[in-house]
Amino acid sequence: MPELPEVEVVRRSLSKFINGQKIKKVHIFNRNLRYKIDKNLKIFVENQKVISTKRKSKYLLIELSNNYIILLHLGMTGKIFILEKNTTHKTSFYYDNFFLKKHNHFSFEFNKSKKIIYNDVRKFGFVKILKKSEVKSSSHLRFLGPDPLSGKFKNEYLKNKLSKTKKSVKNFFMDQKYVSGIGNIYANEILHLSSINPRKKTFKIKKKLIPYLVKNTKLILKKSIKYGGSSIKDFKGISGKKGDFQEEFKVYEREGLECKKRGCNGKIKKIYISNRSSFFCPKCQSN
Ligand SMILES: [Zn+2]
Repeated sequence: MPELPEVEVVRRSLSKFINGQKIKKVHIFNRNLRYKIDKNLKIFVENQKVISTKRKSKYLLIELSNNYIILLHLGMTGKIFILEKNTTHKTSFYYDNFFLKKHNHFSFEFNKSKKIIYNDVRKFGFVKILKKSEVKSSSHLRFLGPDPLSGKFKNEYLKNKLSKTKKSVKNFFMDQKYVSGIGNIYANEILHLSSINPRKKTFKIKKKLIPYLVKNTKLILKKSIKYGGSSIKDFKGISGKKGDFQEEFKVYEREGLECKKRGCNGKIKKIYISNRSSFFCPKCQSN
């Protein structure tokens, strides 16, 4: 599932392509996504100019000139194909090498030679149209915790929340109501960099470690964005370039391999926490 860095990479690619452009035509090919595509999508979107393309957690928010917002979630396999004249760019996370038309759900046409197509094999993604004034209170965004790259995600906030919960720190980081946008890959990597055992109970985390956790969370996510996100299969950004952050994984999917932390010769172990694979180094993640 794409996490914050991959969605941010998609957002950056997309905004360069669509901001300031007028969406001339909307085509709906298949309404079946996590929620059925609203038949009225066309009415709200056609002939509107794209004002901005923002991201909140793993959601993309495309602001239109009529004060409506297109809320887009990529789910598990959602990808956006950007087509311009003879070039096709793909902005996706899990990407299956084939551009199968039967998985196309909708397209926005800007002019004859420029359009975007939303394609989703597993259909867990969705698109909704919301009034700008209703976005914050929508059921999707209302309960989201702070974006870890925002100023709201800081020492005081984390200290307060950690002391009030009793779950494993890994589950805490993956719980969207505490920190939004982080999934399995980055939760594992953040805890490794912070030398914290993923099973550690939140309220038992030493106070002095909290500033490191905040700093390392931002560091890992920013680094991944810089690398173009993580390409688990064949993710490609708009330039056709693959994301490279998977080369930087220190623990994720590295079971049995040597820990990459300087001075540590531990071996990465795989365990399950709430049925999710978790990777850590028993030697240096002892906090
Ligand atoms: Zn280690």
